[in-house]
Amino acid sequence: MNELLAILTLVSLIALAVALLRLRRAKAKLRETSELWKVRSELDLRQAREERDRLLDALGDAFLLVDGEGNIRFANRAARDLFGGRAIVNRPVGEAFLDRRLAEALLKSLETGQALQSRVVLPQQTSLRGDLETRGFNAWIIDAAPLRDSPEAKPFTRVVIRDVTDEHQLEQIRKDFVANASHELRTPLAIINGYLENLLDDGLIDDSPMARRFLTIMRKHSDRISRIVEDMLMISRLESGEAGALKLEPFRFRSCIHDVLERLESLIQQKQAEVVIVMPDDTLLINGDRFYWTQVLFNLVENALKQNLHKGLRIEIGCARDEEHVRIWVADNGVGIPSADLPHIFRRFYRVEKHHSQQEIKGTGLGLSIVKRAIEAHGGTVRVTSTPGRDTRFHIDLPASVAV
Ligand code: ADP
Repeated sequence: MNELLAILTLVSLIALAVALLRLRRAKAKLRETSELWKVRSELDLRQAREERDRLLDALGDAFLLVDGEGNIRFANRAARDLFGGRAIVNRPVGEAFLDRRLAEALLKSLETGQALQSRVVLPQQTSLRGDLETRGFNAWIIDAAPLRDSPEAKPFTRVVIRDVTDEHQLEQIRKDFVANASHELRTPLAIINGYLENLLDDGLIDDSPMARRFLTIMRKHSDRISRIVEDMLMISRLESGEAGALKLEPFRFRSCIHDVLERLESLIQQKQAEVVIVMPDDTLLINGDRFYWTQVLFNLVENALKQNLHKGLRIEIGCARDEEHVRIWVADNGVGIPSADLPHIFRRFYRVEKHHSQQEIKGTGLGLSIVKRAIEAHGGTVRVTSTPGRDTRFHIDLPASVAV
């Protein structure tokens, strides 16, 4: 009996030991599995974060996350670039934004908990842009809004900073254009009105020689208004880029030069200018809009004639092609363009101050603007170099494909 009890006790003890062993193994396995889960979920979290950062870095706009205390907690690549690589994460907004005006919109949104958008325009310290009609300003839109589903007591705020400098500059150019155009039109209109007043109110209409003189002056100024309006329309057609603005057809460049010289014949005679054509390939055909090319050459040659009053003026019109380019140039040995004016010369309404010819023949100031836009519409570029008194040269470069 005792033996049986002893055996039973032994069996129970063995069973208990096996159960304990199993339990320990199960515990160890559980620990192992939970470790694995922890590592895996940390890995997933890290991957999700990296994925988010990659996506936010791909954004062209600067993106910031700001916590409820006003500290920057995340900045994407565009934001880091905007701050010139300075360390901004974990720093208060007020410290990170060196210019108070940039921080203001954001701080207001943090204070009020409201979404806010504001536009900030600041003068450029240094302009790297050498574009046409560049104004020295940078412009941004700051868009801040609290994250409503933020788990924190004080919600995070997301901030998008969009660089709208290009749009701002375009807007500025449009405003300037309207202001300049109004100014240019106002002068001849005021003159015409003045003479009309003389004729009608002061009774000079009955004095026929005087009336004829006044009417002649009025016609000159109304012609000027028409020229300005025509030029503005041409620029607007070229700028609109609308299909059909250019009618492309192959034409002989030489004959285009001849047309222009024929139209300017009397001015060439009057100035006793020598005009030389340098064109190794006389039969060169250009695939382009002949109307605009005539306009380009006319404006360039007319300028050379208009701006130069002295004897011995020599104008060269040239065209040559190689494997990659078709080069066209118009050069003269006249007064030239001062180097300070060269970067602005293609701007609308820009004229070199105190060019002595301007008392005599006042252009619209739109000629070179038309030249530049017409050449660009043909896929080319134009630039100017000038050594006053020796060589003022407009260089036009076109892709070889325009030559037929
Ligand atoms: P404008 O109608 O006054 O001729 P443009 O746009 O054609 O206007 O030219 C702008 C200015 O550039 C001119 O007013 C003139 O001062 C200068 N300019 C252009 N071409 C020449 C040149 N060949 N020689 C000297 N000055 C020039």
